[in-house]
Amino acid sequence: MPADALPVLNEPLTDRFRRRIRYLRVSVTDRCNYRCQYCMPLEHWERVPRHDVLTLEELAFVVGVFAELGVERVRLTGGEPLVRRDLDRLVAAIAELPGVREVALTTNGHLLDRQAAALYAAGLRGLNVSIDTVRPERFAAITRGGDLGRVRAGLDAARAAGFTDVKVNAVAIRGFNDDELADLAAFCWSEDLVPRFIELMPIGDLDFQGPEHVLTTGEILARLGERFPLAPDGPPSGVTIRGPARYHRVTAGPFAGRKVGVISPMTDDGFCETCNRARLTARGGLRACLANDDEVSVLQTVRGDAPREALIRLIGEAVQGKLPAHRMRDPATVPASVMTGIGG
Ligand code: SAM
Ligand code: SF4
Repeated sequence: MPADALPVLNEPLTDRFRRRIRYLRVSVTDRCNYRCQYCMPLEHWERVPRHDVLTLEELAFVVGVFAELGVERVRLTGGEPLVRRDLDRLVAAIAELPGVREVALTTNGHLLDRQAAALYAAGLRGLNVSIDTVRPERFAAITRGGDLGRVRAGLDAARAAGFTDVKVNAVAIRGFNDDELADLAAFCWSEDLVPRFIELMPIGDLDFQGPEHVLTTGEILARLGERFPLAPDGPPSGVTIRGPARYHRVTAGPFAGRKVGVISPMTDDGFCETCNRARLTARGGLRACLANDDEVSVLQTVRGDAPREALIRLIGEAVQGKLPAHRMRDPATVPASVMTGIGG
């Protein structure tokens, strides 16, 4: 359908399957100071040219239009969002937008010790830090040079700055960290953090993502269950505006009452049914789904005439194109894009 034939949207933003879009994930850069083996290729990877990266003002403008259309939560991600200069300015601009209830960040934590206080002061409240292993040598290996000590310093700085309910994201990978999932959970609970295990997704066609490395949610819970008695927690669908994790709680022992989340894109058949997310990529593209390479360019629209009206049309086009479910289980339709550009 030509763009000018598309209707201007009525709030709230809802797709063809009656899923309301309330959560925008923004990849603020495709650059990263780590090179996680399951996320980023070492070579043959086309970086976004600098002039194609949306400025902080452009990003705030785009998020503002989404907020007008009913988006309430915004997560900044990447690449590594903390390598983007003046990120706190973007946080402040988004936090002030009418309708935005929470600004959150997903980070590898390497630069968090220097930035936590400024980000909190700017209005950032949601914080997820990615840690796949509590063993420093393994951490350096999976991230290709990362420093677990620095990440832990970042977590300390975050707590000192006032962040609460900090989540730790860990990708569960057979043959890498499947022997330490319980240790990872215990580390998080001891540090007053909430662990969340993510099933490995085949995004970007990397060797490390082969099916032999995928650990299912059933297996993740079984490994945890060997050390901690767990019971499901939260609504039956498990999915809320806050995101796709399903939670369990420890029912007995020294960690009784503590929570653990599992994110199951590969094994939960209903994973997409309640999806409320859209994504802005580092290339200034708008994606209705992490796992579908279809993308429309926000960049040209924002830099063109009547950007607000044009953007409303474009967002409508992208949201109407949202598929009922991802197709990552079919090897023929796994996304070719690199995760750092899309914003995991
Ligand atoms: N650099 C930041 C970080 O590592 O948290 C933000 C970007 S990273 C792409 C966001 C999340 O996606 C991280 O928790 C990372 O572990 C996860 N991720 C990356 N590649 C993945 C994959 N193939 N399958 C599942 N999760 C993945
Ligand atoms: Fe960088 Fe995060 Fe990807 Fe690791 S997971 S390479 S830290 S973007």
